Amino acid sequence: MSIPLVDLKAQYQSIKPEIDAALQRVVDNTAFILGKEVAEFEKNFAAFSRVQHCIGTDSGTAALHLALLLFGIKAGDEVITTTHTFIATAETISLTGARPVLVDVDPRTYNISPRAIERAITPRTRAIIPVHLYGQPAEMDAILAIARKNNLRVIEDAAQAHGAEYRGKRAGTLGDVACFSFYPGKNLGAYGDAGALVTNDDELAARARMLRDHGRSEKYTHQIVGYGYRLDALQAAILGAKLPHLDAWNARRRDIADYYTELLTNTDLVLPDCPAHITPIYHIYAVRSNNRDALQKHLKARGIETGIHYPIPLHLQPVYENLGYARGDFPHAEQIAAEELSLPMYPELTNAQVEMIVDAVREFVA
Ligand SMILES: *Cc1c(COP(=O)(O)O)cnc(C)c1O
Repeated sequence: MSIPLVDLKAQYQSIKPEIDAALQRVVDNTAFILGKEVAEFEKNFAAFSRVQHCIGTDSGTAALHLALLLFGIKAGDEVITTTHTFIATAETISLTGARPVLVDVDPRTYNISPRAIERAITPRTRAIIPVHLYGQPAEMDAILAIARKNNLRVIEDAAQAHGAEYRGKRAGTLGDVACFSFYPGKNLGAYGDAGALVTNDDELAARARMLRDHGRSEKYTHQIVGYGYRLDALQAAILGAKLPHLDAWNARRRDIADYYTELLTNTDLVLPDCPAHITPIYHIYAVRSNNRDALQKHLKARGIETGIHYPIPLHLQPVYENLGYARGDFPHAEQIAAEELSLPMYPELTNAQVEMIVDAVREFVA
């Protein structure tokens, strides 16, 4: 008996007729790029996120790149983000020619530290990209106050946070624009690459629509230099079939997380800590152990697959050697990178499986 980190097969089996019908509909219509399927999904995902506009893209990375372009971020500018995230958050800043300015995280939430943001601001700073890491929104009140005071844009990296809430507001409605990923393993996942940019600003939305589709205003009229960043109809149809289930799936993830936490308290593991004004969606259930690699090996030997999100903080990545950071610059992020372990987390995980995982963990930890 083995337990994967994420079980996409179990999810497909649970809604097979809905997915199969969506796929068949697209194939029957042979309309594969943008079109009705994409427009329908955009409308429904905007409603789900309680935001005015949703612009589907071919990845979360593309959405982040578009967001930066919307604000004219370019060479000579600086954009502040967390060092403890997936590479795409910083990589897209680099794509514009701007400099990613990395900062440390809050040791309690693992999200970007507002105080560290403040210290990193220079006359060149143009924007902040907070990441709602593991599905837990960053401390947005403090971040938005800093942005207002310094006239900075806020781009939410909500790639892991579909449906998460901060003081009752959904992730994606808190900053100027927000970016979602529908990578297959995300809480709302396509069967390939897909993403979206959302915003309440009409003009930004119109410009994002043009930018994702070759700067087009009509079929063969191109207003600006754009990109081939379109969402395709098959992915939109699959996402549309899954979306009605997302709130229930997220609620089930919270139940699983609560059960893990209940069964793992009084061990020497550090468990997730979420302030009361935040409703997380547990894209990842992250624990910390000062003997992480051995714990991961122990669980693997018991058939339990785990992950590490992420083993190397961005300031220590080979690609960013040129930024001039050194080991020791961001001690909280470095400690998390050395200790974090992601336990299996997906809505179809049963309580009995959680108990098996916890039993295996308890054989190892004190
Ligand atoms: C998944 C992810 C992305 C990138 O999304 P893709 O759809 O894979 O391009 C960006 N940021 C974070 C935090 C992510 O988890």
